[in-house]
Amino acid sequence: MIELDGAVGEGGGQILRSALTLAMVTGRPFRIRNIRANRAKPGLMRQHLVAVQAALQVCGGEATGAALGSQDLTFVPGPVRGGDYEFAIGTAGSCTLVLQTVLPALLKADTPSTLRLAGGTHNPMAPPVQFLQRAWCPRLAEMGARIDIQLERFGFYPAGGGVVLARVEPCAELRPRTWMTRGERRAAYAEASVAGVPGRVAQRELECVGRAMNWGEDQLLVRDLPADQGPGNALMLTLDYEHATEVFTAFGEKSVASEQVARQVVQRARQYLMSRAAFAEYLADQMMLPLALAGGGGFTLDEVSMHARTNAQVIETFLPVRFTFDRRDGVDSCTVAPR
Ligand code: ATP
Repeated sequence: MIELDGAVGEGGGQILRSALTLAMVTGRPFRIRNIRANRAKPGLMRQHLVAVQAALQVCGGEATGAALGSQDLTFVPGPVRGGDYEFAIGTAGSCTLVLQTVLPALLKADTPSTLRLAGGTHNPMAPPVQFLQRAWCPRLAEMGARIDIQLERFGFYPAGGGVVLARVEPCAELRPRTWMTRGERRAAYAEASVAGVPGRVAQRELECVGRAMNWGEDQLLVRDLPADQGPGNALMLTLDYEHATEVFTAFGEKSVASEQVARQVVQRARQYLMSRAAFAEYLADQMMLPLALAGGGGFTLDEVSMHARTNAQVIETFLPVRFTFDRRDGVDSCTVAPR
């Protein structure tokens, strides 16, 4: 039984999610204490509990301590089974984080799977669906994984109510890959999505982005969503390169000016543009587990986060690999190799 301390490093929900995925893939049971010890409300929140329940459905395993608020969980996985799954997160808890927990395991199934997830599709501190579609899945496709993700309905925090559909083909072995440069730029655009929020919010956000990035009208897109998919507002900047795509997101809030929302996302995109890295911080931490499953690979990244370092520690506990973070000629890199 692998023993994990949920308080190490960042002490957040990723320790649990990575452990669930790795347990399903390796068949190794684990016990985790101090779940999300460093968060304001520690223990399993609804989204984490659904991740545990989703993992149990996918592999028919057993868990003790799977309850809201629980800080101690034991998880014994069974064999991963492809099939048709539905997971309802119930609140605006993130669909994408639950999806990312089970997808790598479903690649190992003998048959294809379809998934339907209901909950939040655009949450602060989680990848929006377009991030998975444009930034994450294409990189996994380069490693041999065939995953298709569709956004049926937006679900913004805190109302939720979004729907995401996914289809996964079995992939016996992921191929190792490296992404050291991003290559030539193919496209750059901003999208302001608004649901049940005045359209001028989107206009103002896009005007600010246009000025700051020196982008033309054709690069500034308003996505006017049905009001019943809100209230919500997401501003996304997509930078599409030959070898990598990045999506930077900020969310509008009642008390925050549109200009402020635009500034946040522009600032983050500029940090990436000024670095020569292939991946920005979030894509980097999300590619670590797939690469470790492939047995090797790496990438350059514009920021080495505590999240990434903590994830490396958890992955190394389950798999015979070693992560190395390095810095050369002013660019950070992360590599993973068998140990
Ligand atoms: P909690 O303990 O509250 O559950 P957590 O540890 O699960 O927190 P975070 O550390 O906040 O959550 O990160 C969750 C994941 O979401 C990370 O993998 C991160 O890369 C990803 N993420 C967060 N914000 C974004 C974003 N704007 N775009 C893409 N990915 C994001």
